[in-house]
Amino acid sequence: MDVPPLWEENSERGTLKRINLLKVVWRVVGLISPGNIRVINNRKKIRKWWQSPVWKEFVRINTEGKCCEKCRVNKGEVRGDRKPARLTVDHPYREAYKTLELYLDFLKSRCRVLCTTCNWLQEKGKDICPVCLIHYKPFSVEKCWYCHLKEHPEIEEEQRVKREKWKKIRKEITKKVNAKRSAQLKAKRQSKPHQ
Ligand SMILES: [Zn+2]
Ligand SMILES: [Zn+2]
Repeated sequence: MDVPPLWEENSERGTLKRINLLKVVWRVVGLISPGNIRVINNRKKIRKWWQSPVWKEFVRINTEGKCCEKCRVNKGEVRGDRKPARLTVDHPYREAYKTLELYLDFLKSRCRVLCTTCNWLQEKGKDICPVCLIHYKPFSVEKCWYCHLKEHPEIEEEQRVKREKWKKIRKEITKKVNAKRSAQLKAKRQSKPHQ
């Protein structure tokens, strides 16, 4: 039985295979690197903290009667089409994650009260739009896309015109294809000898 060689020399496929193999090796090395293991262990440790009743009580005490420092949403308030807001305690300094004692010290760790949406999206490089206080925007721009659209209605108009144009083109093509198909069918039927 012929077994295809794993290592093909001097061929494009061989080169591709080698590149893919290197990618896999690179990923595995990345996974087992000390830096990555530290990150994974850290996450495990913090997830354990989050499950503890001490953390839940810490959040309850520190968020009571407060609103999100970024978007000013109150607990249970509904913004846009999101679920009722929940508040949490944010640790802006990574150093605060070192010990549970420091982590649960609101003042020493320089904690902030944030809603869970602001807290999660800041990790993704986004914060609340200061104009509408509903949508989020990348840190580097001053307002969200929806507020930007409101200021430039011509963008939406252009998109609408483009959509209409494509719809028309698609319709014409479908019509032509259908006409061709039915003509072919007709010709076929006519060419068949009568039995
Ligand atoms: Zn918020
Ligand atoms: Zn906005």
